Amino acid sequence: MKIALIGCSGSIGRQVAEVVREHPAHFCFSALIGGKDAASLEALCAEFHPDFAGLASGGEVHLPAGTRLLKGEELLHAFDGADVALIAAGGFAGLPYTLRAAERGIRIALANKESLVCGGELVTAAVKKFGCDLVPVDSEHSALFQALSFRRDTPFSKLILTASGGPFFKLSKEELQTVTAADALRHPTWKMGPKITIDSATLLNKGYEVIEARWLYDAPFENIEAVVHPESIVHSLVSFADGAMLAQLGYPDMKLPIQLALTYPERLPCVKELDLISLGALHFFPLPKEKFPCYSLALSAGKAGGTAPTVLNAAAEIAVSAFLEGRIGFPRIAEVIDAALQQLPREDVCSLEQLQETDARARRFAQSLIYD
Ligand code: MG
Repeated sequence: MKIALIGCSGSIGRQVAEVVREHPAHFCFSALIGGKDAASLEALCAEFHPDFAGLASGGEVHLPAGTRLLKGEELLHAFDGADVALIAAGGFAGLPYTLRAAERGIRIALANKESLVCGGELVTAAVKKFGCDLVPVDSEHSALFQALSFRRDTPFSKLILTASGGPFFKLSKEELQTVTAADALRHPTWKMGPKITIDSATLLNKGYEVIEARWLYDAPFENIEAVVHPESIVHSLVSFADGAMLAQLGYPDMKLPIQLALTYPERLPCVKELDLISLGALHFFPLPKEKFPCYSLALSAGKAGGTAPTVLNAAAEIAVSAFLEGRIGFPRIAEVIDAALQQLPREDVCSLEQLQETDARARRFAQSLIYD
């Protein structure tokens, strides 16, 4: 199976490479596209010899003979000859790739949740039009997909997403005023990139995942819930009309959802089996929405629909990077997002270009709040 991997040097990208290393008879890379890290792209190309490679930043890269460098608009040709597109680029930047992969009609293994948060209408329309298979890599949505026996037409009554609660679950509102980026980056159960780790601390990530579930499983918002599950062993649950509930359990390791998105309904050996006895007990708590306003902001933007989630995400990308740089405090992330949602009017979605303009406008607005 030939994989075109978009976002090869991030946390997910590196784990995709591990999966390919572990199953060389099943997988290879037809394309490797990175962000701006030339050294890691070069190392991956020397190891895997893809047909195409490139950097979104357009930087110089030294590639082995036989690997063609893609630049600028050419990057969207990364899917030529691929069997599956694995979209692991971070943020809004992943959306054009997801749409192009959909046009090619190949399977999309989607790790970029912003493609659905911001572009849910465009992506689902393209997936339908070109008849491609959109498979979640996000662990919660992979769990739902498995609990639905890989059939999106299975009738269900509720989707229940689990959340680790992040590093600040137990802190009071007062304590949250003074937490730092270093505190937020110490996630209790999952090892992830910095942006999603902060989004997990603010619960914005869980809000995104509700929107993601809404598009993937065509579920109304009132049928999607989130609960805190600090052990991160139950990856999500589906409940049915008769009260039955099905879940997928496993140790927190992204390799399983990555691999399954590539091979489903087949399963290959992957991570070690759960040791139930040593786990002993699993816990569930209500989501502390009042302490973490980003969750409700995401849900209201999701319900408003149109361009609102794109505004939400653009403001969040700016605010989170400012928080990571120590420029703003933790509670300010939600305030910046809220202000952007109030300032920029919601529009119906008609094109990628419109979303790109909305994204740029919301970024400028959020930057003016933080830096002016
Ligand atoms: Mg997730």
